[in-house]
Amino acid sequence: MEEYIDELKKIWDSNILTNSGPEYVRFQKQLEAFFGVGNVSLFANGHLALEIGLETLGLTEGEVITTPFTFASTTQAILRRGLTPVFCDIRDDDFTIDVDKIETLITDKTVAILPVHVYGNICDVDRIDEIAQKHNLKVLYDAAHAFGETYKGRNVAGFGDMSMFSFHATKVFNSVEGGCLALNDSRYVDVIEMLKQFGEVGHTESYPLIGTNAKMTEFHAAMGICNMNHVHEYIAKRKTVIERYRANLGGISGVRLSVEQPETQRNYSYMPIVIDKNSKGITRDDVEKALQDHNIYPRRYFYPLTCDFECVKNHRESSAAKIQDTPVARYVSDRVLCLPCYADLTIDQVDIICKHIISLFQ
Ligand SMILES: *Cc1c(COP(=O)(O)O)cnc(C)c1O
Repeated sequence: MEEYIDELKKIWDSNILTNSGPEYVRFQKQLEAFFGVGNVSLFANGHLALEIGLETLGLTEGEVITTPFTFASTTQAILRRGLTPVFCDIRDDDFTIDVDKIETLITDKTVAILPVHVYGNICDVDRIDEIAQKHNLKVLYDAAHAFGETYKGRNVAGFGDMSMFSFHATKVFNSVEGGCLALNDSRYVDVIEMLKQFGEVGHTESYPLIGTNAKMTEFHAAMGICNMNHVHEYIAKRKTVIERYRANLGGISGVRLSVEQPETQRNYSYMPIVIDKNSKGITRDDVEKALQDHNIYPRRYFYPLTCDFECVKNHRESSAAKIQDTPVARYVSDRVLCLPCYADLTIDQVDIICKHIISLFQ
């Protein structure tokens, strides 16, 4: 709170509350350095960044290949832009888009790929890049879960045409509400800035585009600046939590952990477990119930699949297109549970949570 109050004083001194004031610019520059990308544009939230990212890439109609194993935002951004989501299945080991299945879904209507670094597991960015180049597709990553991660020494923010990050209060790094687009191609920057401010060119009273209001305020940027000073510490604490979970739950038959990806520096954002077939016949819902009985609240994250949302089905009925089968995503979605995971969770609390799970399987 003291650190935040110091930032608030600066806002009072500048007399600027929003519209890209000094706090916004400081936070933006910090992130550009942290991500190692040429351009960061800050938003009121991650979802609007995703919508504006799609629009800036010139995707006004056609099909976008994505996965249904994600948060509502990914699929809804595609639909709200008037695009059609085409659902590709996921890998069974890290739950990211199955790159071997992408090309079978490409048609003459395909315009882009929108993969998700789900749970902070990094997609096969090299293969996605190859496929996109070969078929002339745009790539926008939903990197909401991947803040601070690197793959082969490169920050995830630099992959594809753009990456979207969310700074929502529940994420590893937050500005209360907030998000950004990170990109290297500076040709897109002017359009992004216009779209997030009513389509206006700077403050010129000229409005060539139909925009919206998606700006980050000085108060949210100030919170981001404060949390940037602690992000390494938050990630280190989460690492301890996740390593304890993995040590405790690693050997239990029926409880499957996400694979540890090689050449990846993680942010330890989520602790998913998949309850596979087991000799006791224990299901995901049994585990959830047992934990809830002890006032422990895991999340069925991601259930249901976004392709099962009423709004997605209604959209498909009106367009008469069928929804793709994604059997692996369906299997995982029916069996996955995300265990409590945050920086201040203690080792003792992790042990208690694990004890309740293990006792079910013994
Ligand atoms: C949180 C999240 C978003 C949306 O971000 P907001 O900042 O909440 O709008 C998008 N995609 C995924 C995968 C998320 O987890």
